[in-house]
Amino acid sequence: MLPAKYILAAQKINSLLPKIEYKKPRAIMCGHCYNVNENDYAFCTNCGYPLQNIHLADAYHNRLQQRNKFLLRAETSVLIARIVLYVMAAFLSLGILFIFAKGNQKYFIVMMAVLFSGLFFFLAFWSRKNPFTALLTAFIILIVFSAINIFEKLVQSFTTAGGITGMLLCIALLIVVMKGVQGAYRINLIKEELQIKT
Ligand SMILES: [Zn+2]
Repeated sequence: MLPAKYILAAQKINSLLPKIEYKKPRAIMCGHCYNVNENDYAFCTNCGYPLQNIHLADAYHNRLQQRNKFLLRAETSVLIARIVLYVMAAFLSLGILFIFAKGNQKYFIVMMAVLFSGLFFFLAFWSRKNPFTALLTAFIILIVFSAINIFEKLVQSFTTAGGITGMLLCIALLIVVMKGVQGAYRINLIKEELQIKT
C-alpha cells in the first residue's frame, strides 16, 4: 500500500494529463442491406434488420420468409383470376361462333358476348401491369351484370347449364376474381413493406 501522499500526487498528475475519450462510432452499418444508420438505432431504418441485438436476426429472417410466403400466395390468386378472365374471354368468343352456326338471331346476346369477351381480354391483359385496378374493375363489372341477370343469361346461352348451375358458375367466377383483387391489394402492401433501397 502506497502512502496517501503518493496516491494524491498520482491523482493530481492524472488530472493534468489530456483526457482520451473513447467515443462510440457515430454510425453503424446494417449487416443486411449495408445502409448506414445512427449508432444508437436498434433497427436499420431501411430494411428493419437488427443493428444491436444480433440474436434478433432470426426473428427478422422468419418475418421475411413469412412475407415472401404471403407474397407468393397473393401472386397465385392474381394469376388464377387472370387465367379465368382469359378463359372467359376465349369462351365467350367461341360462343359467338356457336350462336352464328346455329343460325339464331340473338343480336343482344351476341353483342353482349362481344363486349364481355373484349372487356375480359383487356382486363386480363391489363392485370399484368396494374392487377389491383384491373381485377377490381372486372369484379365490379361482373357483380353489376350478375345483379341485373345479363351475365347469367350469357353463361346459360353458351352452356347446357340450367339456372342453378349458371348461377353457381357466376358465383364461382365472382369469388375467383374477388380473391384476385385481395391478392393484388396484399401484393402492394407486402412489396411496400419489403422494399429495400439499393
Ligand atoms: Zn438494413
